[in-house]
Amino acid sequence: MATIEHWIGGSFTAGSGHRRGPVFNPATGEQQHEVVLASTADVDAAVGAARAAFESWSQASLSKRTKILFNFRELVNARVGELAELVSDEHGKVLSDAAGEVQRGLEVIEFACGIPELLKGSYTDQASTGVDVFSFREPLGVCAGITPFNFPAMVPMWMHPVAIACGNTFVLKPSERDPSASNYVAGLWREAGLPDGVFNVLHGDKEAVDGLLRHPDVAAVSFVGSTPIARYIHQEGTANGKRVQALGGAKNHAIILPDADLDFAAQHLVAAAFGSAGERCMAISAAVAVGSAGDALMDLVSRKAAEVKVGPGRDPSSEMGPVVTAAAKERIESLIGSGEKQGAKLLVDGRGLRVEGHEGGFFVGPTVIDQVQPSMDVYTEEIFGPVLSTVRADDVDSAIDLINSNPYGNGTAIFTSSGEAARRFQRGVRVGMIGINVPIPVPMAYYSFGGWKDSLFGDKHIHGPEGVSFYTRGKVVTSRWPHVDHASGASLHFPTAS
Ligand code: NAD
Repeated sequence: MATIEHWIGGSFTAGSGHRRGPVFNPATGEQQHEVVLASTADVDAAVGAARAAFESWSQASLSKRTKILFNFRELVNARVGELAELVSDEHGKVLSDAAGEVQRGLEVIEFACGIPELLKGSYTDQASTGVDVFSFREPLGVCAGITPFNFPAMVPMWMHPVAIACGNTFVLKPSERDPSASNYVAGLWREAGLPDGVFNVLHGDKEAVDGLLRHPDVAAVSFVGSTPIARYIHQEGTANGKRVQALGGAKNHAIILPDADLDFAAQHLVAAAFGSAGERCMAISAAVAVGSAGDALMDLVSRKAAEVKVGPGRDPSSEMGPVVTAAAKERIESLIGSGEKQGAKLLVDGRGLRVEGHEGGFFVGPTVIDQVQPSMDVYTEEIFGPVLSTVRADDVDSAIDLINSNPYGNGTAIFTSSGEAARRFQRGVRVGMIGINVPIPVPMAYYSFGGWKDSLFGDKHIHGPEGVSFYTRGKVVTSRWPHVDHASGASLHFPTAS
């Protein structure tokens, strides 16, 4: 059994912490590795390495940084397969889905390759007589990234390529449940020519996170994970004077209107609810069937859900893999049970699924629950598993009201053939990312990603233009190169343009 170590200052180290965490293969249910869990001294070592590297990296020319980013892009592109295998083996998702997440991460790297253009400042000639004004942006220093288990390659790539391109150095604290992809990426950065200490990987749990949140040399923290932890990270990080963006959990609704192509909608709902076993922050977990759409839609969704082929991520015929841990499986199955007890109608029940040859795996089958009421646990909880709950609504306005009364605001979608209804929806919902006949509306890398309400704490969305803004701070220079005229002296009045 391999021990997964920290990557600090360009080498692997077990650090000084003695605690270890198990890393499972969710398809078999067996522990395959152990991962070191950082102590506060290990946090100091990682931040220290990043702090030392910042001195020269922040001064590296844009052309040097860009060259390394392009090299990194080529290496990630060439190793999508290897990365996808690491992701699949520790997360459980099927290989094609794992390759898809690497591809979406790659798009952020490609965006970051344009950093010379993105960092261009502004210039105003002759703002006042003989006075010019210009602005530019500088890196912050050491930035930390704390990431969830569900996208072990992509979510860190939302952060480090942009932070590093901007001239910062980075300490990544990935999820302790699937830590290997981050070490692999560290190797690619090194191969790309990134100086040691610019990108570091610190493995661990709350102790590592708290160490980063309180370390005086950490300038900014990007977090993606569940809402209670996101709220905590934002409060604790900002209380310690750090810039923080903390993306939280979700309960994404899709409204299906009777005028939609119901077969198309059902197909996309099933993909969006059960892809990656529902362990996506943009998964559709609540369908809102409007008026007469309900019964026909439920019939189609149930039939398609029952056809999803569940199996190990490495089997190319599997469409959906296991969930991440035994505890996740238990929690999801118990929530399904609560739905039934509280009066919802279980149309497809994924509990107790056995996959031949993988009896110990953490499998839960696709589950469809109808007639769900907003007070039920299956509706109020973020289940984060392959469970689609359906609420019935009378019209589009009450469906929009339902979405707006939910505490989360990450993503939402509408299926309709009415432009008028779609426009009412896009303007009316208080949600950050919206799909129109697109169930998982993840913005392209040149937009920024983020939700509203309890799905994001802080004011900057992640990657894209807001990512560049998050990882830099602006300076405005007002400059005068005077023809020295000793006759006109300086005035004590507040300076105004002349
Ligand atoms: P999580 O909140 O349990 O863990 C996220 C990170 O926080 C991990 O690195 C973990 O080690 C750390 N952490 C956990 N408990 C902590 C504590 N008490 N104190 C300090 N740090 C702690 O989330 P998860 O289960 O790994 O991921 C799933 C969650 O992430 C879901 O809620 C999902 O919606 C959310 N998510 C959100 C987005 C988004 O863009 N909004 C994207 C992906 C995942």
